[in-house]
Amino acid sequence: MRGALLAAGAAETLFGLARSGRLVGVFEMADHDERFMRTALDLAQAAAEAGEVPVGAIVVDEATGKVIGTGANRPVALHDPTAHAEVRAIREAAESLQNYRLTGLTLYVTLEPCVMCAGAISHARIGRVVWAADDPKGGAVVHGPKFFDQPTCHSRPAVQGGVLADEASALLKGFFAPRRKPRRKSGEQASSEPR
Ligand SMILES: [Zn+2]
Repeated sequence: MRGALLAAGAAETLFGLARSGRLVGVFEMADHDERFMRTALDLAQAAAEAGEVPVGAIVVDEATGKVIGTGANRPVALHDPTAHAEVRAIREAAESLQNYRLTGLTLYVTLEPCVMCAGAISHARIGRVVWAADDPKGGAVVHGPKFFDQPTCHSRPAVQGGVLADEASALLKGFFAPRRKPRRKSGEQASSEPR
């Protein structure tokens, strides 16, 4: 349903832009999002190689194209349940800018943010969140608590999912597939692991 609505909206936008002669801008924007998402996917791959659930994130100043912070998921190695990729990228960006607000910056992440990360995104005043794969079990933007839609959320970023979703999903599936086999043998139900 959401996909259909987005597709309809995108088609309308494309039509409007085609008429106004600015159609090329839409494709430039898609290229731009994919380029940054590829950096986040590289960080997700690095997390997988370290034995962590493969999620990567970056904070970008879209006005300059500069990457301000990067984060790979690391809760196991750091003994830190808050060390999700988004939180690590936000911390690095805030440290780099010496500012606890990241007003107007964009966060790219390979998986739909959880409720903790959605909270951090809102506190940081991130202006736009772009993610790759949806997370029906742990996501909190278009699933579960839909954090940014709550009246208690006072800073709601623009949101967009589905950028390079297939590549992010393939990374996650590749990570979990060998880990699920023993569980199935012992009769436990296979499910995605929390980070
Ligand atoms: Zn999270």
